[in-house]
Amino acid sequence: MTTVPLPKATIRSQVSVPLRSADGYSTAARLFSFDGLVDGQEHLAFGLGDRAAAVISASPGPAPLVRLHSECLTGDVFGSQRCDCGAQLREAVERMAVSGGFLLYLRQEGRGIGLYAKLEAYALQDAGLDTYEANLALGHREDERSYLVAAQMLLALGVPQVALLSNNPDKARQLQRFGVTVTERVPTAVHLSEANARYLATKAQRGAHTIDFPLSAG
Ligand SMILES: [Zn+2]
Repeated sequence: MTTVPLPKATIRSQVSVPLRSADGYSTAARLFSFDGLVDGQEHLAFGLGDRAAAVISASPGPAPLVRLHSECLTGDVFGSQRCDCGAQLREAVERMAVSGGFLLYLRQEGRGIGLYAKLEAYALQDAGLDTYEANLALGHREDERSYLVAAQMLLALGVPQVALLSNNPDKARQLQRFGVTVTERVPTAVHLSEANARYLATKAQRGAHTIDFPLSAG
């Protein structure tokens, strides 16, 4: 696979922040900001577990668990049930606190289309379109996210290889293309979401799959 040469980013600052979730779970994190990210956005890395320590010199070691989490204001902060972002984020933090890892919090609302457009896409979904059709109807691509800045952040942290916590093959593909080796893909738990409810319902009804999920949530 050919890799794309990346502009080099560096750690701008790092600071410890104790975290506590709404359900009472707490852990220590180290937050990293960066200089040189190509899109000029304020993306953050959270070091968790044994990666909550200071990064002094970026010396490559074994591949840590890494999650690329795209910002979702409605799901992450307010617990919106239209998606599973809040649950995914909560799961990722705890898994990384146990095994050590980095959570990259990427400012890519609504698969990169922005918060207002995401709400407009919700309205179109209520009118019958699925999540991808709605983005297209608004003049966006199905998924506009680039993970180039994620690769920049990982390399700045001294993490050229990762065990990627994700169900999304595009993330692994893009990271590899940008020069970060994905040694394994670790699936996340299935959290029922607006995006997958219809899909699961179709499989259950047509394919006789046994899927345990609440139909009322769809
Ligand atoms: Zn979301």
